[in-house]
Order: sequence, then structure tokens, then C-alpha cells
Amino acid sequence: MVDCPECGGSVTLHDDAETGEIIDCGTCGAELEVIGTDPVELETAPELEEDWGE
Ligand SMILES: [Zn+2]
Repeated sequence: MVDCPECGGSVTLHDDAETGEIIDCGTCGAELEVIGTDPVELETAPELEEDWGE
């Protein structure tokens, strides 16, 4: 589990979470992006404003 950067609550990830995956915090409902998986790090997902290009 990882701490939500927004509310500090615990967020449970899938074992196979991948970088770039968007996860909803079950405590505050914030959208969080997985920015690293070893160890897992979360960051508040940016608002949908720009297409980053794939
Ligand atoms: Zn939260």
C-alpha cells in the first residue's frame, strides 16, 4: 500500500500496477498517477488538459 499524496490515506495497488496508470484514491477520490513502481510512488494526476502524445 502507498500513501495518497492528497490525503495521506492508504491506497491499495494491484500487484501489477504500471507506471502511468491512474488510480482513484478510495479515501478522498483523487485521481493518482503511478509515477514509479520500484518502489511504488504516486502523484496527483494532472487534470485532463493536454494530450501528452503517446
Ligand atoms: Zn486520498
